[in-house]
Amino acid sequence: MMTARKFLLTGVFFMILFSISPAKADRTDQPGDQEFLERARALHQKIITVDTHCDTAMRLFRGNWNPADRHQADSPGGSKIDLPRMKEGGLDAEFFAAFVPQGPRTAEGYQMARQEAERMIQAVKKMVAENNQLIGLAFSPEDAYQFKKEGRLIAFLGIENGYALGQDLSLIKHFYEEGVRYITLCHTADNDICNSSTDENDPEDLGLSQFGHQVVTECNRLGMIIDISHASDKSFWEVLASSQAPIMASHSCCRAICPNPRNLTDDMIKALAAKGGVIQICFLSAYLKTPRPNPDRDKAFEEFRVRYGNWRDIKDEDQRKKIMAEMQELNRKYPAELATVKDLADHIDHVVKLVGVDYVGFGTDFDGGGGVAGCYDVSQMINVTVELMKRGYSDEDLAKIWGQNFFRVFNRVKDVAGTLSKS
Ligand SMILES: [Zn+2]
Repeated sequence: MMTARKFLLTGVFFMILFSISPAKADRTDQPGDQEFLERARALHQKIITVDTHCDTAMRLFRGNWNPADRHQADSPGGSKIDLPRMKEGGLDAEFFAAFVPQGPRTAEGYQMARQEAERMIQAVKKMVAENNQLIGLAFSPEDAYQFKKEGRLIAFLGIENGYALGQDLSLIKHFYEEGVRYITLCHTADNDICNSSTDENDPEDLGLSQFGHQVVTECNRLGMIIDISHASDKSFWEVLASSQAPIMASHSCCRAICPNPRNLTDDMIKALAAKGGVIQICFLSAYLKTPRPNPDRDKAFEEFRVRYGNWRDIKDEDQRKKIMAEMQELNRKYPAELATVKDLADHIDHVVKLVGVDYVGFGTDFDGGGGVAGCYDVSQMINVTVELMKRGYSDEDLAKIWGQNFFRVFNRVKDVAGTLSKS
C-alpha cells in the first residue's frame, strides 16, 4: 500500500519524467510546404489562439528562469513555453495552471495545498506584471481580444487539482476573485471532490462526492469553468449531470484512438458536446498513441526513481543539475517514442467526425509532459495548423478549434452564472 506521501512523490516524479524530453532527431521535420506555412501564419495573425493547459508556472520558482528570455526545451533550466517562443509559434493565450500535487486529505494537507496554489497564482501575476509590455492577465474572452489588439500576449489562470480547496467551498469565490477561471477537479489521485481516473490505490470508482456536488453548484453560481480532465469516468458523468453549465476537458484525448483512462470515450465526447462543452486535445504522447513496450527504459527509470526519489526537493542546485543531467543521459540512451503532429490531428479528426467542429480545441500540457514530434514546444504550434490545413480544415474551422469553441464555453459559463444569480 502506498502512503499518501509516496504517492505524491511518485506522481511528481512521473510528471518530471515525462517533462524531460527524449533525445529524438525528428522534432522539426514534420510539416510543411511554404504555402501552407504562410497561410497558417497569416491566419494566426487574424484569430485568437488559446492553449488551455500548461505547467510552466512551476518554472517561475527556479532561481533565474525568466519568461521573457528564449529557452531551449531540453536544456537544464529550460522549458517548452516562454514569451518569445509564444510569439514565434503564433500562440496568443496561455492558461497557466497553478498545479497542486495530491497530498494527504488532512487539515494540514489542505492548508499546504491552498498555500501552494496561492504561491503559484502570485508567481504568475508577478511574471505578468514584470512583463507588462508583452503580456496581460485576462479574466474573460473580451480581455483576451483587447490584449491581442494591443499586440500583447495573454495569460489566464487555472488551478489544476481541486485539492487546493480542501473541504472549503468558500475558496472557490476567493480563487475566482484572484482571477482563476477554471478548476481541474482532481489530479492523479482521488480527492474530496471526486475520484480520479488514475488512482491505483483505489480502483473503485466512487465518482463525485457530496462535497463535489456542492463544488459544481458553486462553480456554476460564480462562473468558474469546471475542468474534468483527470476525473474518473463516473466522476465525469456525475459532474456532467450535476452542472448547469457546459464543462471542459482542458487536456485530454480520445480513448477510441488511445485507450488510456485519462482520455474520453466516444460516449463521453458526445455527451460533453450535447451540453455545449469542449475537449481540448492534449499533446502528451502517452494519451495520443499507445506506446510500444520499452522494458529497458522502464527499468532504467525505475532504478533512477529509487535512487533519487523526488529530486526536485533537493535544494543544492549543483546536485540537482547533476541529477537532471543523468536523467537526460538516460533519455538519450533509452529514448521514448514521441507521438507526432499527425497523431494529434487524428484526435481532432476523430472528435470532428463524432460531434462536429464546435467542440474541440488544444490543451498542450507543455512543461507537464506535453510535446510531440513536430510540435515539441510552443514555438512550433503553427505546425499543427499546417497539418489541419492540409487535411482540409477551413479558416473558420481553425478559428473555432484554436479558441472560439473554448471561448463559447467560457462565455456560456458566465451567462449561466448571471442567470443563477438572478433566480
Ligand atoms: Zn494534468
